[in-house]
Amino acid sequence: MHKDLKEVLLTEEQIRGRVCELGKAITKDYAGKTILMCCILKGAVTFYADLARTIRGPVLFDFMSCSSYGASSTSSGQVHIRKDLDNDVRNKDVLIVEDIIDTGVTLSMLLPLLKERGARSVKLATLLSKPARRQVEVPVDYNGFEIPDAFVVGYGLDYAGQYRNLPYIGVLREDVYEK
Ligand code: 5GP
Repeated sequence: MHKDLKEVLLTEEQIRGRVCELGKAITKDYAGKTILMCCILKGAVTFYADLARTIRGPVLFDFMSCSSYGASSTSSGQVHIRKDLDNDVRNKDVLIVEDIIDTGVTLSMLLPLLKERGARSVKLATLLSKPARRQVEVPVDYNGFEIPDAFVVGYGLDYAGQYRNLPYIGVLREDVYEK
């Protein structure tokens, strides 16, 4: 385990197994359709790449970058689109892929935006969800794991740009972000 972590919350094996289950459910639900799979950069990249490879059927890749967090571990409550999708979403079946839903602020803005742009359907897949922290309700179609209210890193998730390459998800020690 990395020295800055308090505990490993989800192992590589646990993540792999759950991602496969989500991929099977998505494959079944989207049979006969092409998925426009939208990755929310950067945290969802690892989940996105693994999930995409478990889906059988046509998938188009696209990427979007939003910011609601700085180097801090709490939400600023503000969401900005830094990089928009390359695709026109009109009449497309959009699957947003997110790393974690915390307050729900980011997704509560993105879901209606993509619907307004004319997407035929917009669904949401997230690896992690922290229901205890929710400020805005967001409909989650595919949820990997519900986790307690702790700041986690690894498998794409960072703190100040670090830890994204850890293959598992762990809880960061408080003294690391209180420094
Ligand atoms: P929300 O808008 O739902 O509050 O925030 C979602 C975003 O906050 C996530 O995409 C992620 O970037 C960040 N976030 C929320 N909780 C955590 C956490 O425990 N660890 C990390 N690394 N990022 C988090």
